[in-house]
Amino acid sequence: MQTNETIIGIDLGTTNSLAATVFDHGAEALRESGGGAIIPSVLTRQDGRWTVGEEARQLRTRAPERTVYSVKRLMAQDIESLREEILRLPYTVKQAQRGLVKVHIGAESFTPQELSAEILRAVKRRAEAALRQPIAKAVITVPAFFDDAQRQATRDAGRIAGLEVVRIINEPTAAAIAYGLDQKRKGIVAVYDLGGGTFDISILQLSGAVFKVLATHGDTHLGGDDFDALIAEELKRHVLAAHPEARLDGALASSLLRKTAELIKIDLSRSLETEYTLELPDQKLTFAGRFTADRVNELISPLVQQTLNSCHEALKAAGKRPEDIDDVVMVGGSSRVPLVRKRVQALFGRGPNIAINPDEVVAIGAGIQGHLLAGGRRDYVLLDVIPLSLGIETLGGTFSKLITANSTIPAEASEEFTTYVDNQTGIDINIYQGEREFVKDCRNLGRFRLKGVPPMPAGLPRVKVTFHVDTNGIVNVGAVEQRSGQEASIEVIPSHGLTNDEMERIMDEAVEHAIEDLNQRQLVEFRNMAEAVFRGIDKVWDDTEALLTPLEREEIRKQMDVVRQHAGQSDPVALKREMDRLGDLTRPVADVIISKAALTELRRFYEETR
Ligand code: AMP
Repeated sequence: MQTNETIIGIDLGTTNSLAATVFDHGAEALRESGGGAIIPSVLTRQDGRWTVGEEARQLRTRAPERTVYSVKRLMAQDIESLREEILRLPYTVKQAQRGLVKVHIGAESFTPQELSAEILRAVKRRAEAALRQPIAKAVITVPAFFDDAQRQATRDAGRIAGLEVVRIINEPTAAAIAYGLDQKRKGIVAVYDLGGGTFDISILQLSGAVFKVLATHGDTHLGGDDFDALIAEELKRHVLAAHPEARLDGALASSLLRKTAELIKIDLSRSLETEYTLELPDQKLTFAGRFTADRVNELISPLVQQTLNSCHEALKAAGKRPEDIDDVVMVGGSSRVPLVRKRVQALFGRGPNIAINPDEVVAIGAGIQGHLLAGGRRDYVLLDVIPLSLGIETLGGTFSKLITANSTIPAEASEEFTTYVDNQTGIDINIYQGEREFVKDCRNLGRFRLKGVPPMPAGLPRVKVTFHVDTNGIVNVGAVEQRSGQEASIEVIPSHGLTNDEMERIMDEAVEHAIEDLNQRQLVEFRNMAEAVFRGIDKVWDDTEALLTPLEREEIRKQMDVVRQHAGQSDPVALKREMDRLGDLTRPVADVIISKAALTELRRFYEETR
């Protein structure tokens, strides 16, 4: 459905930028071949040339005076309003004509528009490479609170980059468009956008496919980076408690603490507990510890509360109550934090839209808007089916699918599982998405542990696992051990951020490997079965002396060796054949042992009832 004159959508962000457009199957972010869509909004000046994106971001600590970031904060601002901001920035910002500012690097100076244009050039180049065609037009997004001068500056940046800016649209509007909310006749939409360093909430009113911004509120210095800072403080306390001599205030230690903190935070958005290791090579110190989601929630709760206070302010300014909101849309990487989603849901009394990758949702909405402006149609389906199967890991790394691909949402499915080891009191539930038979070939979505199961012999616990996918595509996975009533659950979000190519590759691979996977899976199942049979035989071996001739016992031993040999090879059919043979040889024992057990039971019964 590529129209002659493609108009791409661009999210020109404070920390990251990216582009998107509409293909036959729907809207998608534009990626480097085999790579990501996101380009860090960072630029470094080197030998009279700019380096933009990931490479520049890496240079941020090494060449701070030549590396520019957060340009968006400078757009159409005068030096007075930037006083505080400038104190936080390591590069030089000075007053220029008409009260505006310029960034100084060595003897050169640049307007924020020129710097933004460099970022836009990088985005344009990536889009051209992805689409294999020149791009001349774009829709660019800006925060809802941008004034006319800031919007004009953004237009100018586009022009400098060689792009005709066909339209400037609000970021929250773009996010709402991505979810197809513009196709509803009317309604009130709240867009909650929590990124790495900024937060804003917008209340939009939709009437006849046009979104009007009723109110916005936010904090230009609040985001996931602040969560990391709090977790890093706690890490520091952990380390110092064990190693009072550690020096943790230097630049290297601080940056390692921050990095570890971010990893912990991201891991805990998919699980309830995590382990970490922190290495300080210069101090020859390695520290390992654990972090729980509960503790992270405690730490970040006041910051999350601040965002909710902003939501109340915005609602008040819009003259609305939480129950007036028809849809809530989540934007920004930090909207993945479970506590954030939970509290937003509690505030508005409804599950937020989170199914589209929150880093890409604004660009995708802008891409759809560009496509419509270029005369394209909007007749592709949005996310109403589950694109890839969902399930859990079972013994031997096999993938047990509970909900298959293309099921319509909402969907629910449950299945019972058991243990393979005696006295297992904790059971790990590992959640995956994919089409292959083994979890190593699928994508991990999250995990949790069902604890407190009373010790029982293997095979006795009855663990019922339930998957529930709601209309927003959020997956809730619960596990309950039916005999003891112990239960646990977690909420995860499947990846919808897959490109069409990725989806096709996953599907093709599934077909290509179907037979091989099936054989492998059978092999694992038969090996597990063989292990169980061996354990059973070992348990009763001494009893068989009275029941079998030495020759029969010898034959069983020999056949066990044959089975063992086949278990080490890769032919499931041969393994099964030898196991059946072993079954035939041990059948008389099994019969006698079962009747012996039954006799013992009967005897006990008579004794007790006599
Ligand atoms: P953005 O500015 O929208 O790119 O968001 C970046 C922020 O999102 C950073 O603070 C990241 O640490 C955070 N983030 C990204 N992925 C996750 C995740 N899975 N869980 C929690 N935070 C995340």
